[in-house]
Amino acid sequence: MRQIILGFTFSIALCAAASAQEIAPQTIQQAAELREQALKSDLAWKVLESLTTEVGPRLAGSDADKAAVKWGMAKFKELGFDKVWTEPVNIPVWQRIHQSAAVISPYPQSLNITALGGSVSTKQGGITAQIMHFATYEDLVAAPVGSAKGKIVYISNKMERHPSGRGYGKSGPARFLGPAEAARKGAIAIVIRSVGTDNQRSPHTGMTSYAQGVDKIPAAALSNPDADQLDRILLRKQPVTLKLDIKTAEQAQAISYNVIGEITGSERPQEIIAIGGHLDSWDQGTGAVDDGAGIAITVAAAKLIAEQQRPKRTIRVVMFAAEEIGVFGGNQYAVAHKDELNNHIIGAESDGGAGNVLALSSNVGRQSLHAIDAMLALMAPLTVVRSDKVAGGSADFGPMVKAGMPAVGLEQDHLVYFDIHHTPDDTLNKVVPAELAQNVAAWAIFVKIAADWKGRFDR
Ligand code: ZN
Ligand code: ZN
Repeated sequence: MRQIILGFTFSIALCAAASAQEIAPQTIQQAAELREQALKSDLAWKVLESLTTEVGPRLAGSDADKAAVKWGMAKFKELGFDKVWTEPVNIPVWQRIHQSAAVISPYPQSLNITALGGSVSTKQGGITAQIMHFATYEDLVAAPVGSAKGKIVYISNKMERHPSGRGYGKSGPARFLGPAEAARKGAIAIVIRSVGTDNQRSPHTGMTSYAQGVDKIPAAALSNPDADQLDRILLRKQPVTLKLDIKTAEQAQAISYNVIGEITGSERPQEIIAIGGHLDSWDQGTGAVDDGAGIAITVAAAKLIAEQQRPKRTIRVVMFAAEEIGVFGGNQYAVAHKDELNNHIIGAESDGGAGNVLALSSNVGRQSLHAIDAMLALMAPLTVVRSDKVAGGSADFGPMVKAGMPAVGLEQDHLVYFDIHHTPDDTLNKVVPAELAQNVAAWAIFVKIAADWKGRFDR
């Protein structure tokens, strides 16, 4: 008898829990309507056009970075966000001044390069040295210490083109770690083939990092056709001498800002759906795809939702500072909001360009999987499928996700993203308006369900 009573009580509790966590049919209906509105809306395009035109390239710590912060504040206010504020972020400041490279022998000719982010300068007037060629970063790692003494190391591996962008993980270490490793082997400088998939003479920059206890050596990337050219010269089996002339500057610490805008929730305002992108870009292009698009997509999704009906939870859009030079804004956000962690119901960053969303990944508790299923069902007309990856919050929400914040990932098509990533060609004309709108539609669905559903995504 006692057992029967217990069982009865238990099933009532289960039913109550199930009904509390159901997604209201009205929410599903509204999300479907948002999807159709977003596909027709040019709001994200307008935001992106405004940022790339009125600010342009915005390297962290530059005057344009300050202009971008002002732009972000003004844009949130113009769009009617309820609360708009900034949070300071201490950052280092690095600046590109000039860069050039040339083969001196056996076939004298200039080569197109870009200094990697954080690179030190060559000595005044440049350096000239023989090239030591490595096919991959792993080959450089395997070389004996001191074996590249006095040489300019060259790493020639080509990045794979794939919709998932997986080639970045394989080729990236040449950029991230190559300079420190080359210094360990005694090199006086390093050039790498660009970590990119294009065939243009636009070299790809991006951050490198030096290691404690080894020299900081000048580091640059060749455009892909220039790397092909150097490869052909090396095939002639003669010593190849390269001249490298790089001037960069480092300044003392500066302050940039995370720019934050909120649509206040109507029923549970203290609970936050956190989305955003990074406001800074590299200096070479106008950062239309990296990451102007992420800013535009998330701002537009929040605005479209607010226009339809005030969300039940608060939607917070963060324009992160200084991602490119080392995720300074994302790290600072996690520190500044650690007491608010439990109120971050779920989060996601858009930082994969402007290509279509292909798949939805998640990192949530089992009790909320039906909410993810509901998002996927609503995204089906956008041809978004389930991803088996675990969402990590992208670079800027990464620290929050590590601390426990649930997350989704809206994985984008990267088939052509790495053609222009971190190059002078990262400009507005590479963005396809219909693809940008498809992103907004997918984001609006995710944010609407997360904001109005009563349940939690806790892992
Ligand atoms: Zn980015
Ligand atoms: Zn980037």
